[in-house]
Amino acid sequence: MIITLTESADLDGVRAALADLGLWTREFTGARGTVQFLVHAHSGHVERATLLGVAGVADVSATPSPHPLVDAQGPVVRVAGVAIGGDASPVLMAGPCSVESEEQIHTVARRLAELGATFLRGGAFKPRTSPYDFQGVGREALGWMRAAADAYGLRVVTEALSESAMEAVAEVADLIQIGSRNMHNTPLLQAAGRTGRAVLVKRGMAATVEEWLAAGEYCLAAGARAVVFCERGIRSFDDRTRNLLDLASVALLRHVHHVPVIVDPSHALGRRDLVLPLSRAAIAAGAAGLLVEVHPSPGTALSDGPQAVSFETAAALADHLGTDRPAVLAGES
Ligand code: PEP
Ligand code: MN
Repeated sequence: MIITLTESADLDGVRAALADLGLWTREFTGARGTVQFLVHAHSGHVERATLLGVAGVADVSATPSPHPLVDAQGPVVRVAGVAIGGDASPVLMAGPCSVESEEQIHTVARRLAELGATFLRGGAFKPRTSPYDFQGVGREALGWMRAAADAYGLRVVTEALSESAMEAVAEVADLIQIGSRNMHNTPLLQAAGRTGRAVLVKRGMAATVEEWLAAGEYCLAAGARAVVFCERGIRSFDDRTRNLLDLASVALLRHVHHVPVIVDPSHALGRRDLVLPLSRAAIAAGAAGLLVEVHPSPGTALSDGPQAVSFETAAALADHLGTDRPAVLAGES
């Protein structure tokens, strides 16, 4: 909303009245030289009539949100039967950075299902910094992943790196991941949305929260059935960790914007030793779940080995989240 003052308004009086109403505003001078207040979209709600009753207020007009579909989606979404967000139990999405072989993804799926994970993650197409690094197995890995997930009752989250592979990814994915490097790739966001699947929008490494929400809006506007946001760290000046895990953005999305947001501590940190404590912090800040890289033998991983955690650490994460461990699998191995 925009509140416009009369020319003779007592500015301090209006400021105090708006503050008393609990409004979070930004003051600016309008085109005709009159003082105006922009009421932040996620400020507390006050009726227009109440604001018009404040001495010195000339007019109150609505400003449309730049992401109305994200706002309307609500705090909880269901993806292939799993509730994500709000008061739902935090979800564990886990698996290797890259799907390396049929056997590898099968082993990971079984161990994670035992721990009560609900989503199997893994990349068939990898966005690597160097063209000489492992780029992922490609389409064949999608089928391996779906079969492994189905064998243990897991859902699939995997990245779509290009529009040309979107259809193949949508055939196997319950949740289509848009990676950090592609958060600004609006044709790719739209292509993901057109599949009608749910989309996981990872935050661009230099994206503002509003740009991130707008990326979600692109997906929903194109037809995505739901959008889940994923904080995976932003660029900072310090290279002791790969990125800077911005937990303030998680709290903002959860408690101010009321949208489902999960945290990927693996890419945020780039090192496995801090994944557990930062995962705890993420949940405390309001994350609806975790997306974590887990590898049967982290030292031999074809990508992102230094940040991959073992099954033991994954078990500690599952304990912290309080995942439901399926009785049938619990006794195995
Ligand atoms: C990934 O999840 O494997 C990945 C490449 O993540 P990001 O896009 O956050 O770097
Ligand atoms: Mn990775």
